This record gives sequence, structure tokens and C-alpha cells, in this order.
Amino acid sequence: MNDLSETHTSTVYVAGVKYSCVPCISGDGMDLQLNGRNYLVTAASRGLGFGVAQALVSDGATVTICSRNEAALKKAVSSLGEHASYVVADLTRPSDIVSLIGNVRDNVGRLDGLFVNAGGPPPGPFESLSDHDWQAAFDLTLMSAVRLTREALPLLKESDAPSILYSTSISVKEPIDNLLLSNAVRPAVIGLMRTLARELAPDKVRVNAVCPGYIRTDRVKELLSKSPSREEEIVAEIPLGRMGTPEEFGVFCAFLLSPVASYIHGAVMLIDGGLYRGMM
Ligand code: NAD
Repeated sequence: MNDLSETHTSTVYVAGVKYSCVPCISGDGMDLQLNGRNYLVTAASRGLGFGVAQALVSDGATVTICSRNEAALKKAVSSLGEHASYVVADLTRPSDIVSLIGNVRDNVGRLDGLFVNAGGPPPGPFESLSDHDWQAAFDLTLMSAVRLTREALPLLKESDAPSILYSTSISVKEPIDNLLLSNAVRPAVIGLMRTLARELAPDKVRVNAVCPGYIRTDRVKELLSKSPSREEEIVAEIPLGRMGTPEEFGVFCAFLLSPVASYIHGAVMLIDGGLYRGMM
């Protein structure tokens, strides 16, 4: 612990609400009140999901992560530590989603928050895409969010501070060239979230969405390694002059999922270093 955490509580204002915070155990930030809470972070063996799981665990939560590859999940859990566990699940399969939530219910017994994330639909211009491609993107991006929400809700409603955070993309604000499937299907997740914000409010289930711009995950590094000049072009467009890190993405999402973000509901938030140029 540092000196500050040994001797002070701090006061913070979130959406105009005053909070007195006891600094967290690690002594390096505000207490997100995650001790004893459990979160499910999907598609999290690496990348954005892993960044969120890491931030939740380092602030005292337990997490269950999932993805399709057991070896990758084992590696991720060994790096997250004893408060993390995994379930192998392909989010395009309805039965895997039912088993995933059943596993959380049977083995952990509580769920305080759900981070909804999946792999991205493939690139390609309109004339290259078949009905099969469209259906696959619909299942991967929208129906995984619908099914996860449906299965998780009964357990979430038992929490005193339940929340769902949908991870989408800056593509819901402005289309990205050559990513038609993402541009077309991800906005449906925002429609889902905004509707749920009204439907689930009586049950005190908070719902929000984040829209990453360019976060330097392994996938982004792999894509850019094939075209270093493309990375320079992208970074030149970002006002902060760099891509974000999974850690920066993770801490913001952990905050939004936590009880401390108690008045943030129905919001769509960019994490893009200022890349988006629109007014709204
Ligand atoms: P990543 O490849 O680093 O990680 C993706 C994770 O999802 C992996 O753990 C993978 O195993 C898992 N996954 C993929 N398909 C799955 C499925 N069907 N079922 C279960 N798990 C599955 O990618 P990332 O950069 O972390 O991106 C995550 C998502 O965010 C993608 O949809 C991506 O398009 C989107 N996104 C990323 C960025 C960025 O800058 N990184 C920006 C905008 C949107």
C-alpha cells in the first residue's frame, strides 16, 4: 500500500453524485466495490475481453471468462490468478451459451455483471458477401448478445448492483471502410441496449455500451503486422497520437460494470482517443 491508501479516504463525483471511497487494497486507485462480486467476461482469452477481466480481478472481483479455445483459456486464467475460472464456449452456439451461464450459476452461484464481447465479423465489400456471411454475422454479433442477456438475467437480478456492458465498435457511430458486416449489424446491439435500458430499469439492471476505436490488442497487432504503413495512417488520424491499450480499455469497462457507476445507464461511450469526429 502507498501512503495515501493507508491514511485517506477520497471523495469522487460520478455523474454529479458524491462518493466517499476507501482506496482499494492495491492502493493504486479508487475502490470499485468489487470485492465478493462475480463477473462474466465473454470472448476473453485475449484482447479486449482479457483486458476487462484483468481490471476486474485486480480490483478484487472474481471472473469467469470464456472463448472457444481451451488452451488459450488455460493460459489466460493462469495469468489472471486464482480469482479467475474459464468455460469453453462458442458464442455462436445457443446451447454453449446456456451451458456457460449454467456453469456460472452452479459453480459460482452469483453474477453481478456481464461483459458482452465476441469476435468480429469478417471484412469485405457488399458484393463479396453471401446470405451465409450475413447470417453468421447476425448470429455472432447480435444473437450472442441477445442470448447471453436472456440467459444471464435471472441470475443478474439476484445481485444488488447488476450491470451489463455491451462491447461494440466505433463503427456504430460512423461506418468503417470494408467492414460492412460490422457497420450493419453492430448498431442493432445499440438498439438492444437502449431498449433494455428502459425495460430493465425497474429491476435495477444497468445496461451500457462501449465503442472502441483502435485498441492495440493481439488481433490488431497481427492485422497491422501485414501492413506497417497502415498503422501510421491510422495513428495519424487519432488526436491522442496513438492506439489505446487493452489495460486502458479494461479499467474503464471495470468502472462501468462496478456499483460505483450507479447512475450511468443506457449510455453509449467511445474509447477512441478522440478519433470520432461527429458531434453526437
Ligand atoms: P482478439 O482476437 O484479440 O480477441 C477476441 C477474443 O474473442 C478471443 O479470446 C477469441 O478466442 C474470442 N472469440 C472469437 N470468436 C468467438 C466465438 N465465436 N465464441 C467465443 N469466443 C470467441 O480481438 P479483440 O481486438 O479483443 O476484439 C474483440 C472484439 O472487439 C471483436 O469483435 C472486434 O471486432 C471488436 N473491436 C475491436 C477493436 C480493437 O481495436 N481491438 C475495435 C473495435 C471493435
